[in-house]
Amino acid sequence: KLHNTILELKGNIRVFCRVRPMLCEDGIGNDAKVVAFPTSTELLGRGIDLIQNGQKHSFTFDKVFLPDESQEDVFVEISQLVQSALDGYKVCIFAYGQTGSGKTYTMMGKPEHSDQKGLIPRSLEQVFETRQILEAQGWKYEMQVSMLEIYNETVRDLLAPSRSSSSVDAGKQYTIKHDAIGNTYVSDLTIVDVRSSKEVSYLLDRAAQSRSVGKTQMNEQSSRSHFVFTLRISGVNENTDQHVQGVLNLIDLAGSERLSKSGSTGDRLKETQAINKSLSSLVDVIFALAKKEEHVPFRNSKLTYLLQPCLGGDSKTLMFVNLSPEPSSVGESLCSLRFAARVN
Ligand code: ADP
Ligand code: MG
Repeated sequence: KLHNTILELKGNIRVFCRVRPMLCEDGIGNDAKVVAFPTSTELLGRGIDLIQNGQKHSFTFDKVFLPDESQEDVFVEISQLVQSALDGYKVCIFAYGQTGSGKTYTMMGKPEHSDQKGLIPRSLEQVFETRQILEAQGWKYEMQVSMLEIYNETVRDLLAPSRSSSSVDAGKQYTIKHDAIGNTYVSDLTIVDVRSSKEVSYLLDRAAQSRSVGKTQMNEQSSRSHFVFTLRISGVNENTDQHVQGVLNLIDLAGSERLSKSGSTGDRLKETQAINKSLSSLVDVIFALAKKEEHVPFRNSKLTYLLQPCLGGDSKTLMFVNLSPEPSSVGESLCSLRFAARVN
């Protein structure tokens, strides 16, 4: 029975797995292969095997991207989903995985090299290109961007003016609220009207700067916090009087590495517990939605509460599970795959 409900929901929740290539800094002499891809036609591009201590663990996903697949190859598979935000759907795309597995590469990439742009810049280019086409058909759009970070269950506004002043957040509550028609508001959060993908690139740069300010203040914070990019789209067709309200959320999650590996004590321990709590809340929510449970524990973390209107219902969710091919990461990779298989 459970199996059926999950299949039913698969139209709304999909899981893609992406394995990054070996990098020079991964270390030499470390060429034991721990990741393999089945070649049978049935599992081609969908199956992945992980070998730990000579034991093979097999998983299947909606799609598996091999280490040599490009940013363009990945984008081709999600462009429909991005399109559906313009059609009025609420869309969430997550990147999940341990630090160093390629989450930020998948989401942002290296925008300075056009072939290495990630799916945030590619999505925006597509949205603004499509907008032009649709405007010729009588549609008028308003688009707004916000960017925030959730660190230790606290929201930080990445577009707040003059972030360099450390007291800038003083007095700001960033309380998350939902209205009756299913929109989310975060009090005091900066929301910017945007008219082109260039404007959004500029905002992405600003957000990156304010993240790196946090990084020196708080220890590599960027891999310890969730980054949430939100594009709100509202469209009206003046010929047909149709209205659409879509949302595109692109989320670079905090590193999923477990407590033991980070050798946590003190603040670090508190930080790791906050990350674990919000990542496991996210899994709990997605799993409860998949099982169509009456109670979905959205309120257990800031992240799930923020995204509540965009998860479930007729919204669309895609989870990337990013993996590193390094033999020393095989334990973490197995955890990520097990997590994702539960979602899947
Ligand atoms: P994370 O955000 O999960 O910590 P990153 O995205 O920063 O990981 O990736 C770690 C390193 O691997 C970076 O140097 C990044 O450029 C590189 N990398 C990740 N994925 C790929 C890929 N698919 N192709 C080439 N390099 C990649
Ligand atoms: Mg990262």
